[in-house]
Amino acid sequence: MSKCARCSNETSRRRRNPWQRIFYRAVIGCDFCGERVFIPRSTFGFLQRYSQCPQCGTRDLSKLRSRDHVEKMNRNPLRMLLGLVGAPLYHCTFCRLQFRDPRKRSPEVAKFKSGKGARSNDDSGSVLNLVA
Ligand SMILES: [Zn+2]
Ligand SMILES: [Zn+2]
Repeated sequence: MSKCARCSNETSRRRRNPWQRIFYRAVIGCDFCGERVFIPRSTFGFLQRYSQCPQCGTRDLSKLRSRDHVEKMNRNPLRMLLGLVGAPLYHCTFCRLQFRDPRKRSPEVAKFKSGKGARSNDDSGSVLNLVA
């Protein structure tokens, strides 16, 4: 079992109440200081406030103006449907996965990405033009 982030003592899995069972895969608790760590279910990622990669969970995402046909695309039917209603298209830097997500990017990430060294969306646009 993992160690407590606060006091480094052994932690153990806690019983979850029905509400927690819905949202969390596990609740880890420290017997020593009472610190709790909630591990969310990835399927409920939609309930998070900001968009995150469906595969690795990162919020370090680039927003794409149009789909890059070279990169992988998440084919979750729900996400495909989101595309039809005009949900933004995001690209995960780590998985190189594209997916639709109705939420905003995490503000910290958006700020960082808009600065110098941001991935240029124009590149994917020119690739698209070549394919078309
Ligand atoms: Zn502790
Ligand atoms: Zn990812």
